[in-house]
Amino acid sequence: MTKAYCVKCKKKDVEMAGESTVKTKNGRTMIKGKCPTCGTTMCKFVKA
Ligand SMILES: [Zn+2]
Repeated sequence: MTKAYCVKCKKKDVEMAGESTVKTKNGRTMIKGKCPTCGTTMCKFVKA
């Protein structure tokens, strides 16, 4: 499980629901998921 910050709940270390790894155009890896509380999309950059 990946933890990220939810901007809507203003909560840190929220566990993402349905996370998926996305590659950005500039070659960075990002994890995208949803906040289980409010359903807002959260994303987090991963250090390659
Ligand atoms: Zn939330």
